[in-house]
Formats: sequence, structure tokens, C-alpha cells
Amino acid sequence: MWVDVKDGSIKHWNSVVIDGNKIITFSDDIVSAIKIIDGNNQFLIPGLVNAHVHSSVVTAGTQARSDEEYREFMETVIPNRMKGFLQSGFTTLVDPGGYMPYVTQIRESSVNGDLIAPRIVTVGRVLTIPNGHFASFLCRDNDWCYQHLIAYIDVDDANETRKIVQNLVSEGVNGIKVVYDSSFRQGRGTFENTPLSTLKVIVEEAHRLGVPVYAHTTLNEEFVEAISAGVDGFFHAPIPENGRYGESSIDLSELSIEKNIPFVTALFFLDPELVIEDIRQNYIEEMTSSVVPTIRKHIDNGGVYVYGSDYFAHEGQDRISSEIRALRLLDFSNLEVLQSMTINAVKLAMVPRGIGEIKAGKLADMLILPLNPLNDIFVVLEPKVVIKDGRVVVDNME
Ligand SMILES: [Zn+2]
Repeated sequence: MWVDVKDGSIKHWNSVVIDGNKIITFSDDIVSAIKIIDGNNQFLIPGLVNAHVHSSVVTAGTQARSDEEYREFMETVIPNRMKGFLQSGFTTLVDPGGYMPYVTQIRESSVNGDLIAPRIVTVGRVLTIPNGHFASFLCRDNDWCYQHLIAYIDVDDANETRKIVQNLVSEGVNGIKVVYDSSFRQGRGTFENTPLSTLKVIVEEAHRLGVPVYAHTTLNEEFVEAISAGVDGFFHAPIPENGRYGESSIDLSELSIEKNIPFVTALFFLDPELVIEDIRQNYIEEMTSSVVPTIRKHIDNGGVYVYGSDYFAHEGQDRISSEIRALRLLDFSNLEVLQSMTINAVKLAMVPRGIGEIKAGKLADMLILPLNPLNDIFVVLEPKVVIKDGRVVVDNME
């Protein structure tokens, strides 16, 4: 059986035929093949996408202080981290910030088979102004980290800004990420922000070079500004307040739907299990009355959420589950959670088109699950078999 993530229907084709890295056809007959995986009484779903994983980053960005130290980390930690993501069903990771050139090396090793890892797309270094919040806290006092993780914007010189975008693109990134956030979930104006005019220059130059732009934004009004500057998406989701998305006169929900702008969720911190038990019930009721209706309306009007757990390591398995619990709290159905992890992800321009669905012509990224994920969504994190690009990369069938 397989789960059609478009509408949640269960289909009963007997066989899915894979050739090379692609799904070729479906068949009601048991076809002869070089390799047959028996999925009798199991559920087949597309490989999962986690759209917010800093795949290359060392915890808190402070540990590696030299290329030697990082290469050591790459050899000892990265293979297990990548295996962990595959074991949890993630066949694609979207990386919103990583050490260059190492994150692209990890990406290439996954492509050429030197490393058993999910497919990775990355923005590489993160663009920020020299006095922005990220510029001081991300790497603390670690110069090596800043050099490899951050690209500074020249706010006074548009040509210099264009050059920085050109440099990032020539480094081989799949997208550009710009910090456009003066609040970092505190008050607006708490931190110096990238000027809107500079953001526009960055978007213009990146689009000229055919690369999408994402903004790191947490304040609802700044989401509206970033969309008006032409960005293609966000690695965090806006959180409604008082039944609406912020005080802006422009409705963020309507604007993002009109412009086809997806939101990566990264809402793990709303997980009710992170709230102490005494006040948990109150918290759930408060969220249900103040936040859920606005998000429901956004989804029902065609708003798109893409699952992302905002964590740099598989050591964050709890973060991965927290993200699902947060989405369930926000009244996402099991199907909507599954869609956010599969078919919705291709709405991010930097994600390859060929994933997210089980369909002839798509890439053969699939999971075999022992139970129906529409009954219990957490089963997606414990697949029996993981197939990526037509290859079995995890096999827990006995
Ligand atoms: Zn992040």
C-alpha cells in the first residue's frame, strides 16, 4: 500500500518499479526485477525533507577553530550525523547556513556516493550586516567560524553588495540567505537591521544570476517588508498575535499566498512537552484560542508550510519530534504534517523538483513504514527501509 500525500488516499498497487534513481511505473503484477523488496502489509511514503538543518555546523558554532579541526570533525562526526538523518527517514536536507567550502563538499560526497547521506541543498555562508545580531552571537569569539559561516554586506556600496552575492553564487550555493531581522523575537529595533534598499539589491542580483533568496526574519512586519523586497521564502514561520499576523496594514497571510511564498516551520519551541506540566493545559488552551485559528485560516486559504526542525545535528532527535508535536498543537492533521515533510517542500525554489511524491518520473526516494502514518505520524521517523535515489540506504527489515 502507499500513501498518496496529495490527498491522503491509500493506493493498492502491488509493485513500484525503480530503474536507476527514478520511479518508472506502477504495476498490479509482481514484476520480475534484479532486486525485489517485499513491502507486503507495509506503507510506502516519499522520502522526507527537513528544510532547516545546519548540516555542517559544530554545536553552537564555537568548537572548530581551524581547518584541521574542522576536517577532523568532518571525518568523525558528519558520517554518523548523516546516517542518523537517513535512519529518521530524511532523504533531503535544506541547509540554511553552513561552513564553506565544507558544506558543499559534504553535498558533493553525498552525490558521488563517497558519503551515505541525504541529498543536501545549501545557502552556504549567511549574509548579514557587520553590526547585526548574527554577526556577534553566532560564532562568539571564533574567527574561523565567522570566516566560513558569514558573508558581510556592505551597506554603503551597492556594487560591493552585488559582488558579495556573485561570490556566494560562484561558491556553488543553491540559494542565498540574508538576515533581515531587527528583533530576534524581542522588540522591533532591538538590533541593527539590513536596510530594505540593500535587501532589494541582493534579491535583484541573486535573481539575475538565477538563485533564490531567503530571509531570516522573525518579526511579522519584517516578513511583509522582505516579501515586498522580492524574497522567495523564509526559514522560520511567522507566529500570529491577537488573531492576526502583526500590526502591518498589509495582511501577511494574503500577501504570502498571493506571491507563493512558503514558510519553513522551525516551531519546535512551541512543543507542549517543553512546558512544565503544571501549566501545560493552560498553555495548550491559550495556543488553541489565540494562534491556531489564524494558522488554520492561512492553510485553508492555500498557505504553504514546509517542515524544518532548525537543528544542526541528528543528536537533535528530540528536536525533530518536538517539531511534529508543535505542528500537531497548531492543529495540523497527520496528513498536513506529512505534506509539510514531502510535497510542500518542492515549493521552496532551492529544493529539486523531482522529490516529495511517489510518481512515475520522480526520483526514487521512498520509505517503507510498518504502520499507516495517517494514524500515527511519528511512525515516519522509524522507517523499516529507506530508499534514496533508487538505492537502499537503511534496511531494518528482518
Ligand atoms: Zn537556523
